[in-house]
Amino acid sequence: MTNKQHIIDRFLSYVRIDTQSDPESTSTPSTMKQWDLANKLVDELKVIGMQDVTIDEHAYVMASLPANVPHEVPVIGFVSHFDTTPDFSGTNVNPQIVENYDGKDIVLNKEKNIILSPEYFDDLLQYKGKTIITTDGTTLLGADDKAGITEIMTAMEYLVNNPDILHGKIRVCFTPDEEIGRGAHKFDVEKFGAEWAYTMDGSQIGELEYENFNAARAVVKVEGKSVHPGYAKDKMVNSMYIAQDFINSLPRMETPEHTEDRQGFFHLSSINGDVEETILEYIIRDHDLGHFQARKEMMQDLASEICSQYDRDLITIEITDQYRNMREKVEPVMHIVDLARDAMEAVDIEPIIKPIRGGTDGAQLSFMGLPCPNIFAGGHNFHGKYEYVPVESMQKAAEVIVKLAELTAKKYE
Ligand SMILES: [Zn+2]
Repeated sequence: MTNKQHIIDRFLSYVRIDTQSDPESTSTPSTMKQWDLANKLVDELKVIGMQDVTIDEHAYVMASLPANVPHEVPVIGFVSHFDTTPDFSGTNVNPQIVENYDGKDIVLNKEKNIILSPEYFDDLLQYKGKTIITTDGTTLLGADDKAGITEIMTAMEYLVNNPDILHGKIRVCFTPDEEIGRGAHKFDVEKFGAEWAYTMDGSQIGELEYENFNAARAVVKVEGKSVHPGYAKDKMVNSMYIAQDFINSLPRMETPEHTEDRQGFFHLSSINGDVEETILEYIIRDHDLGHFQARKEMMQDLASEICSQYDRDLITIEITDQYRNMREKVEPVMHIVDLARDAMEAVDIEPIIKPIRGGTDGAQLSFMGLPCPNIFAGGHNFHGKYEYVPVESMQKAAEVIVKLAELTAKKYE
């Protein structure tokens, strides 16, 4: 559909711009450097012929492709984020292009002996013969989610240049700060004006997701009583032992390392303690809303049980909800998932529909009134130096976007 070199050039022009976000910052975007790419995207959207190109004070970039059919078609949208994770450097990204991949080790950095090997990352083997873009082993790549932006931009350009392909009105949005969980926070759903949208932010080719975790964090505070150890009999209360009792009372197998698919978990992410006070930090995850609530109650119940052995409430738990499973918002409009599946099949991709063991911006957007499943962007090994993306996967994703536009118009004929 599109020229391969064109897609490579476009992708490289994005990943060479450092757009790392920063969770410590309270502004939006969280880092000034995100403006560099945001402004470039504005220019490019205008150049390819998009309409109503806007950028707001928080660097959200939006644009429209007007309908070219006379009948009413729901407005659909495509969304990607331009920031990269704070977990790994995105400065001076120096991509390498491996053409006609032979299925063997890829040396990312000879000097530092950093190898991208199919022995460890066996997903690589499905891309034999493809063109793979990797890092030089010192930074991340930024395919998360500049691959998504590349695909949306490429698809829009293609639709502008091929007016014989019929479609309704399409909206696109590029957002800052997804990687710090705020990509949807300042998203103006009303201004966007789409009936539904898709984030182009999944991984492997074929991925289609409309279920994610319900998520909360819990801070468990255990109070002890510090007394001189030599005179402590019947007086000292060591908060660390009580914390240990609490930890051990939770089901040991319901942890990230023992669960998969739709199984939820408690994850103890940190312990900080001394005799006087111990703080435990947990995250709670479950796809099922009922099970999720039960997990939160279980923590409170176990705490009261332990407290009942003492004459005061030694344990207090503060639980904060983080995000919810978008499934309840998408299921009533399942045709939007069906359309995405049909679009994939129409371009010979086998859809891989599975629950996300995490969250997406689309989940937040779904609860803000914009149902928003997630489609593959093609990259692998996000957030680190082994990140890579096959160019052909980006091409296919762009084709899926074009097909989705076409099929949506057809469905409402
Ligand atoms: Zn992403």
